[in-house]
Amino acid sequence: MAKVLLTGGSGFVGAHILRTLLERGYSVTATVRSSEKGDKILASHATHRSRLSYVIVKDIAEEFAFDLAVQSSPPFDYVIHSASPFPVDFTDPVNDVLNPAINGTIGILKAVKAHAPGVKRVVITSSFAAIVNTSCPPKVYDENSWNPVTWEEAVANRSLAYRGSKAFAERSAWDFVEGEKPGFDLVTINPPLVYGPVIHSLESLSGLNTSNQRIRDFVLGKHLGNELPPTGTFLWVDVRDLALAHVRAIEVPAAGGRRFFTTAGYCSHKRIVDAIRETHPQLSARLPDNPIDDFPENCYGYDNGRVRNMLAVEFRSLHQGIGDTVSSLLRFM
Ligand code: NDP
Repeated sequence: MAKVLLTGGSGFVGAHILRTLLERGYSVTATVRSSEKGDKILASHATHRSRLSYVIVKDIAEEFAFDLAVQSSPPFDYVIHSASPFPVDFTDPVNDVLNPAINGTIGILKAVKAHAPGVKRVVITSSFAAIVNTSCPPKVYDENSWNPVTWEEAVANRSLAYRGSKAFAERSAWDFVEGEKPGFDLVTINPPLVYGPVIHSLESLSGLNTSNQRIRDFVLGKHLGNELPPTGTFLWVDVRDLALAHVRAIEVPAAGGRRFFTTAGYCSHKRIVDAIRETHPQLSARLPDNPIDDFPENCYGYDNGRVRNMLAVEFRSLHQGIGDTVSSLLRFM
């Protein structure tokens, strides 16, 4: 039974990767920031308890943060690094967003190289944020596209801090592998906005992960009227398909050394509202009546062929993804 170290197991995406790994028979150790979070994870997977453990990594931005976590007996075969801040709000772009993303990525690669020689592959959750190029968009986004954001722009412009954090972290990872020639290979998974059911521990909807907050706000009736907030990113993926892509990335030998642009396709706030109305008609009174769709006529294209063909991941429809997300949120209302 292969053994996987998963960082960020307490998060929205991490919880789904954890569940998929356990369902597919892996033995998993999740990193968490506290024993309270670790104990909650163990309690929510009672049936797989013998194959699940946790280890505390308080702050991924700290040097040597992962040195102990990567050491295990029997040793780890694979590492999936999904921990990285995706904050709604922050005070300091460098310390709150950029450093944890970059230092965490470099830190885990260094730790694996130094202390975990059994690891064959490291899979990193990167992002469409590392792909998108708003200054000179390609006709079709695919794995060859890179965000050209500079450090100065990411520090000076709050809206670019997160995008910068993912682009710099991913570039650092590829540079590390090229320069250091470790005994493992690297895969990066690059999703756009991720929606889907909440299965991680959550006290209330106010602590919901950043991406699902859009859906929450529609369900709470925050956008009544015809005007919707700008969609911004017109691509999405369901968290369950994203989780499967991470796990397939450790299972498919040919995936090594590649990026995977893991998107299901187009979405817009109007299409999301339509999907909520179709799947949950009882919420209609809280939804905008006939909002304008800001989906652009000449929207950029996308190519998700590598994920479908190489990782054999099929994507859920927006209707299903949004419907299941809303059902999971209603439990907290
Ligand atoms: P969450 O905020 O739900 O999860 C983030 C995870 O990272 C949590 O487990 C969190 O721990 C952990 N983490 C963050 N900062 C630190 C730190 N300094 N030290 C230790 N642990 C830390 O976000 P998502 O699940 O949405 O994001 C997971 C990954 O997916 C990230 O890499 C993100 O960039 C990427 N991604 C997400 C997208 C989305 O739309 N959701 C889109 C594209 C990429 P804790 O629970 O203790 O806070």
